[in-house]
Amino acid sequence: MGQVYKSGAFIQQCFAVHPLCLNLKSLHLPGSLIIRCTSCNMLHRLTLREVVLRVSPVHAIEGAAARDDRPASTHLEGCAASHPAAIGVRAMDVVRETAGLRCGECRKMYDLELVSIETHQR
Ligand SMILES: [Zn+2]
Ligand SMILES: [Zn+2]
Repeated sequence: MGQVYKSGAFIQQCFAVHPLCLNLKSLHLPGSLIIRCTSCNMLHRLTLREVVLRVSPVHAIEGAAARDDRPASTHLEGCAASHPAAIGVRAMDVVRETAGLRCGECRKMYDLELVSIETHQR
Protein backbone atom coordinates (compact mmCIF):
# COMPACT_ATOMS: atom_id res chain seq x y z
CA MET A 1 0.00 0.00 0.00
CA GLY A 2 1.43 3.33 -1.05
CA GLN A 3 0.82 6.79 0.24
CA VAL A 4 -2.58 8.43 0.45
CA TYR A 5 -3.04 12.13 -0.16
CA LYS A 6 -6.27 13.78 0.92
CA SER A 7 -6.16 16.39 -1.79
CA GLY A 8 -7.70 17.10 -5.13
CA ALA A 9 -4.50 18.64 -6.41
CA PHE A 10 -3.27 15.45 -8.03
CA ILE A 11 -6.32 14.67 -10.12
CA GLN A 12 -6.62 18.33 -11.07
CA GLN A 13 -3.05 18.17 -12.32
CA CYS A 14 -3.68 14.93 -14.21
CA PHE A 15 -6.75 16.46 -15.82
CA ALA A 16 -4.78 19.53 -16.86
CA VAL A 17 -1.81 17.66 -18.28
CA HIS A 18 -3.13 14.35 -19.61
CA PRO A 19 -6.93 14.13 -19.34
CA LEU A 20 -7.11 11.18 -21.72
CA CYS A 21 -5.07 9.12 -19.27
CA LEU A 22 -7.87 9.30 -16.70
CA ASN A 23 -10.36 6.50 -16.85
CA LEU A 24 -12.82 4.72 -14.64
CA LYS A 25 -11.32 1.92 -12.60
CA SER A 26 -14.27 0.95 -10.44
CA LEU A 27 -17.65 2.16 -9.27
CA HIS A 28 -18.84 1.96 -5.69
CA LEU A 29 -22.19 3.71 -5.99
CA PRO A 30 -23.80 5.55 -4.44
CA GLY A 31 -20.81 6.57 -2.36
CA SER A 32 -17.73 6.74 -4.49
CA LEU A 33 -15.83 5.84 -7.61
CA ILE A 34 -12.20 5.35 -8.47
CA ILE A 35 -10.45 6.97 -11.40
CA ARG A 36 -7.11 5.62 -12.55
CA CYS A 37 -4.43 7.69 -14.19
CA THR A 38 -2.52 5.47 -16.56
CA SER A 39 0.19 8.07 -16.96
CA CYS A 40 1.07 8.59 -13.27
CA ASN A 41 -0.12 5.18 -12.11
CA MET A 42 -2.20 6.86 -9.42
CA LEU A 43 -5.66 6.02 -8.19
CA HIS A 44 -8.03 8.86 -7.38
CA ARG A 45 -10.97 8.10 -5.16
CA LEU A 46 -13.87 10.52 -5.58
CA THR A 47 -16.42 10.53 -2.79
CA LEU A 48 -19.76 11.50 -4.27
CA ARG A 49 -22.59 13.65 -3.09
CA GLU A 50 -24.62 13.23 -6.23
CA VAL A 51 -24.50 11.89 -9.77
CA VAL A 52 -26.55 13.69 -12.40
CA LEU A 53 -27.19 12.41 -15.89
CA ARG A 54 -26.95 15.11 -18.50
CA VAL A 55 -28.61 14.27 -21.78
CA SER A 56 -27.26 16.15 -24.75
CA PRO A 57 -29.80 18.00 -26.94
CA VAL A 58 -28.89 15.82 -29.90
CA HIS A 59 -29.56 12.69 -27.95
CA ALA A 60 -32.83 14.06 -26.60
CA ILE A 61 -34.15 14.38 -30.14
CA GLU A 62 -33.46 10.71 -30.68
CA GLY A 63 -35.64 10.18 -27.65
CA ALA A 64 -34.13 7.05 -26.21
CA ALA A 65 -32.43 8.64 -23.24
CA ALA A 66 -35.17 11.22 -22.73
CA ARG A 67 -37.75 8.53 -22.15
CA ASP A 68 -35.47 6.72 -19.76
CA ASP A 69 -36.10 8.00 -16.26
CA ARG A 70 -33.93 5.62 -14.33
CA PRO A 71 -31.60 7.34 -11.88
CA ALA A 72 -28.27 8.58 -13.14
CA SER A 73 -26.39 6.07 -11.01
CA THR A 74 -28.20 3.23 -12.79
CA HIS A 75 -27.10 4.58 -16.16
CA LEU A 76 -23.55 4.95 -14.95
CA GLU A 77 -23.55 1.43 -13.56
CA GLY A 78 -24.78 0.17 -16.90
CA CYS A 79 -21.99 1.97 -18.74
CA ALA A 80 -19.41 0.70 -16.27
CA ALA A 81 -20.66 -2.86 -16.63
CA SER A 82 -20.86 -3.03 -20.40
CA HIS A 83 -18.16 -0.66 -21.68
CA PRO A 84 -15.98 0.68 -18.85
CA ALA A 85 -13.16 1.65 -21.21
CA ALA A 86 -15.46 4.16 -22.93
CA ILE A 87 -15.89 6.24 -19.77
CA GLY A 88 -13.60 9.23 -19.59
CA VAL A 89 -13.24 12.34 -17.49
CA ARG A 90 -14.49 15.44 -19.29
CA ALA A 91 -14.40 17.98 -16.45
CA MET A 92 -12.63 18.43 -13.15
CA ASP A 93 -12.95 21.38 -10.81
CA VAL A 94 -11.67 20.53 -7.36
CA VAL A 95 -12.29 24.05 -6.08
CA ARG A 96 -16.01 23.84 -6.80
CA GLU A 97 -15.98 20.12 -6.00
CA THR A 98 -17.49 19.12 -9.29
CA ALA A 99 -16.40 16.72 -11.98
CA GLY A 100 -17.82 15.29 -15.16
CA LEU A 101 -17.69 11.95 -16.90
CA ARG A 102 -18.52 11.12 -20.48
CA CYS A 103 -19.38 7.78 -21.97
CA GLY A 104 -17.97 7.56 -25.47
CA GLU A 105 -20.12 4.55 -26.25
CA CYS A 106 -23.63 5.85 -25.56
CA ARG A 107 -22.72 9.56 -25.43
CA LYS A 108 -24.13 10.05 -21.96
CA MET A 109 -22.63 12.73 -19.81
CA TYR A 110 -22.54 12.64 -16.07
CA ASP A 111 -22.05 15.50 -13.67
CA LEU A 112 -20.57 14.58 -10.33
CA GLU A 113 -20.82 16.55 -7.13
CA LEU A 114 -17.93 15.66 -4.90
CA VAL A 115 -17.53 15.50 -1.17
CA SER A 116 -13.83 14.76 -1.17
CA ILE A 117 -10.96 13.49 -3.27
CA GLU A 118 -8.19 11.17 -2.20
CA THR A 119 -5.22 10.10 -4.24
CA HIS A 120 -3.44 6.80 -3.73
CA GLN A 121 0.05 6.56 -5.05
CA ARG A 122 1.33 3.08 -5.73
ZN1 LIG B 1 -1.77 11.59 -14.10
ZN1 LIG C 1 -22.30 4.14 -21.84
